[in-house]
Amino acid sequence: MTADTLTEYAELDAFLHDRRYTRGKSVQRKKLCNNTWAERLDEGSIGIRLHDTDVVVWVSDHEVRLNADGWFTATTKDRIDRYSPFYIRQNGRWYVCLNRSGEGARYPFFDGITMVKRDDTWVPTDVPDLSAEDAQNRMTRRFIDRAMRGIGDRPLTNCPVCLAWKAMTPELLHKHILDHVITRDISVGMVSMSIERRFGEGHFQTMLWNARATRRVSPPGDTITWLERSALRRTLVDILYVGAITSKHGRRPVLPQEEVCIPA
Ligand SMILES: [Zn+2]
Repeated sequence: MTADTLTEYAELDAFLHDRRYTRGKSVQRKKLCNNTWAERLDEGSIGIRLHDTDVVVWVSDHEVRLNADGWFTATTKDRIDRYSPFYIRQNGRWYVCLNRSGEGARYPFFDGITMVKRDDTWVPTDVPDLSAEDAQNRMTRRFIDRAMRGIGDRPLTNCPVCLAWKAMTPELLHKHILDHVITRDISVGMVSMSIERRFGEGHFQTMLWNARATRRVSPPGDTITWLERSALRRTLVDILYVGAITSKHGRRPVLPQEEVCIPA
């Protein structure tokens, strides 16, 4: 049995107690939907686990903690919408909203945000100043625009580090690709990575690009199709932006606030 939406602690508790499916026993862990499980954690708390991340933790019936662990994806958003009292809406960045329409009270989302129920209303325990993140993203956007400009007129460079992108953590990848973008150095590996993240391994577009890229002729800029350019831009945004903004592919780096700084 799976459950479409369970937005109250009592509902989840009952779900884990549902004796029809557990031979009369209360269970520790039970599937809610695709890749998503409800599980009992310490001292009465209940977690909603998506893959390896507890995206929602009901600490008690009046305290809920939300955590994307850098996976600011449509799926994470969907699970929070379905298994917590909140809705995630994007307006520039993610906001925790108290109703589906996104109108009324809303609070900027960050990993680990804790909502508590006071006088029957949910409020966050902490509202951090995220203006440094916003400034960083505005600056990053300008760097990306600048790096993408005239991309058809410049040959792509060969960077062996970029080719090993799969072996890098999101944090290392962020640092490495940021250096490329700041120096307007777009490598063959950056495009390969973007195509594969966008279309997937074994997809026709990926194979097409790889066939061109491995002929040892760096594909000159003017052979980059609009599709490859748009995949590259999308990937640069996913890798380089900081904070809770929907990411199309993969995990965004989780950088400590003090590392969110604007490059000079
Ligand atoms: Zn590189």
